[in-house]
Amino acid sequence: MRLYLAVFALLAAVHCEQLFTGDQVLRIHAQSEDHLQILKKLEEDVNNELDFWTYAYSTERPVDIRVPHAKLYAVKDFLKESNIPFTVMINNVQELLEKEKAEMLSNAKMERSTKNINFGAYHDLETLYGFMDTLVASHPNLISKVNIGNSYENRPMYALKFSTGGAGRPAIWVDAGIHAREWITQASAVWIANKIATDYGVDPSVTSLLGQMDIYLMIVANPDGYVFSHTSNRMWRKTRSVNSGSSCRGVDPNRNWDAGFGGPGASKDPCSESYHGPYANSEVEVKNIVDFVTGHGNFKSYISIHAYSQLLMYPYGYQCTDVPDKSELHSVGTAAIQELTSLYNTRYQVGSICKIIYQASGGSIDWTYNIGIKYSYAFELRDTGFYGFLLPAEQIIPTAEETWLGLKYIMGHVHNNLY
Ligand SMILES: [Zn+2]
Repeated sequence: MRLYLAVFALLAAVHCEQLFTGDQVLRIHAQSEDHLQILKKLEEDVNNELDFWTYAYSTERPVDIRVPHAKLYAVKDFLKESNIPFTVMINNVQELLEKEKAEMLSNAKMERSTKNINFGAYHDLETLYGFMDTLVASHPNLISKVNIGNSYENRPMYALKFSTGGAGRPAIWVDAGIHAREWITQASAVWIANKIATDYGVDPSVTSLLGQMDIYLMIVANPDGYVFSHTSNRMWRKTRSVNSGSSCRGVDPNRNWDAGFGGPGASKDPCSESYHGPYANSEVEVKNIVDFVTGHGNFKSYISIHAYSQLLMYPYGYQCTDVPDKSELHSVGTAAIQELTSLYNTRYQVGSICKIIYQASGGSIDWTYNIGIKYSYAFELRDTGFYGFLLPAEQIIPTAEETWLGLKYIMGHVHNNLY
């Protein structure tokens, strides 16, 4: 009976999981404003089933699109007819997914026997939540777990709080994984959590920072989406809320904040990957963070980790005017990236969201900046041009290591410039 049930569960899992057999990711190099307009039209039409991994904004930056196998011929033909050059970035998406899945399975087996988490592997939510408990248990005087509320599907949203005591201390917030499919972000945050824990008392800058300030680190800011990206659709980005009047689920949780809500660079179509939702903070995941940050009242820095494109950005996204602190945010960002690049020579660009990638409204760091959190930044981690959201697990640790150097620089600056 048990075997029968196991086989049934396996078949059900296989059956429900979306396949991407023969899908390709095309890297498109727009040469002119006309080309960009053509690509933007494609992007806006959600019926064509094209999955824009990066958006059409500037001729400086390529546009990566996952094209379903059935549409490949038509799309390539269309691009050729429009004289828009492109290359094939990923030849068969499903092949990469199967490799990723096989690695995860063999790693899970190894972890069961060693009882230790492997930082160089991707993990499901249960394993990540288990890791948090283990980390808290082994550093009880430094780390605690804070449940800031539950997700739409009722999963707890945990932040790890690193604190050496004292109520009401100034604090730094870091979150990862608000976009579910950006798996390198949750994986890097796991390594970083462990790094902060083990560097306290060893690394003077971490030790002195934690002597005065707290760090909150949320490894999985969109738990429902993360689970769905493991069980059903690896390409899932949004939340999992039901949209009334539409069969499409989910809201882009980084278009849902109360900063230029509903403006350019967000969609009003529930089927779009950048759907902003019915109103600001409609997503409970966003609302939970907003309430926590507001209730805390003493955050000096808010850093949100995304992937991919290798960028470090500061506000604004919803408008292209400079923020009053632009020159400081830019110079701190530039120095942070110098640190990051020093390790493996990974090249980043620094700038405001609007100027460096695209105008995007309703983003988290615009809201945090507007409520007075000066040091608001967003990272876009590796890579650019090879794997996109499907970064091989062997790059997790190097990505986390270099990202930590950039983060640590920003944190150090915040600590030395408390306001
Ligand atoms: Zn993202």
